[in-house]
Amino acid sequence: MKPRIYLSSPHMGGKEMEYIQEAFDSNWIAPAGSNVNGFEQDLCEFTGSRYALALSSGTAAIHLALIVLGVQKDDIVLCQSLTFAASANPVVYLGAVPVFIDSEPVTWNMCPDALETAIKHYLQIGKKPKAVILVHLYGMPALLKEIILICARYDIAMIEDAAEALGATYFNQKLGTFGSLAILSFNGNKIITTSGGGALLCQRQDYFTKARFLASQAKDDAPHYEHSEVGYNYGLSNVLAGIGRGQMKVLPDRIQKRRSNFDFYKINLAQLPGITFQEEPKGFFSNRWLTVILFDPKVSPVRPENAREFLLQKNIETRPLWKPMHLQPLFRQAPYFGRKTAENLFMTGLCLPSGSGLPEEDLLCITNHIRSVFSKT
Ligand SMILES: *Cc1c(COP(=O)(O)O)cnc(C)c1O
Repeated sequence: MKPRIYLSSPHMGGKEMEYIQEAFDSNWIAPAGSNVNGFEQDLCEFTGSRYALALSSGTAAIHLALIVLGVQKDDIVLCQSLTFAASANPVVYLGAVPVFIDSEPVTWNMCPDALETAIKHYLQIGKKPKAVILVHLYGMPALLKEIILICARYDIAMIEDAAEALGATYFNQKLGTFGSLAILSFNGNKIITTSGGGALLCQRQDYFTKARFLASQAKDDAPHYEHSEVGYNYGLSNVLAGIGRGQMKVLPDRIQKRRSNFDFYKINLAQLPGITFQEEPKGFFSNRWLTVILFDPKVSPVRPENAREFLLQKNIETRPLWKPMHLQPLFRQAPYFGRKTAENLFMTGLCLPSGSGLPEEDLLCITNHIRSVFSKT
């Protein structure tokens, strides 16, 4: 059998080992050193963010962002429902209350109307929400203008979860620079990887200083170890930051290739009955981290699950969309605002192999198999 085609594999650029060697040569095998500084600088230059803090994961970055914004036990945090659980878990770490918000059908991200309804509801009962967690799912920018306007109107801080969206832009501005704070992930499946890692981006120096302090065990200024706050061990290893520096060199190529995967799938599959692709509205530039196809159940003879099982037999990995948080057993008690947009996307979508290392031959093989599922039914 042919080797497995994965959904989104790591794709090294070639320079990573040189930076790792640098860490070994200088013996900075620690969560500090020139690779960490260099990687943070690269992230600032690439995104246009004033500050970047390299961390051990994107989840850690969300945790710190919430703490920096003062989120505490029993506070309300409004979070996009259609996302990976890591967007919402840090809310629970703090004993705060996640409230989930539906998506809108264009970008599949947070619906501004549902957001505003939720905010009004909590204001009415005297519990002003503490923060909004907005996700740019699969690399597609959310309706930023509308969301930012609502957050400003009610004076609520917004955190951008740009874990999947590094390199995507909204009217030529990089995602990760719109929120009070933003997070990135360099997990193995993301558009670039450090094998595991993340970053916190922000424009305010006080946020950055606070987050950096908390990420390295909240050590007060003293010759001995003095602590007046709870700290965390969330720094990124200097060895792994070396991988990040190498990956930053090829990030523009990675974005281009992910986008060309999307175009390939679209050219080869859009004629199939009931199959649709997510379009970019004017001014929106997705990094197309994963290509997703939707199967219109009224038109398509094939269900996403049939296609997934068929492709799995051919050793090709595909996956349903993120299951909305308000439908997860973990969050069954959590309040939810909206209708069924997120749920319908989950029911009708399928993520296709989208790695930047995929050769055209594999893409052709995948599209041929998908077409054959349609011709058989
Ligand atoms: C990957 C991901 C995260 C978490 O990042 P880690 O680095 O794996 O902790 C958070 N949010 C979204 C939307 C993600 O896809």
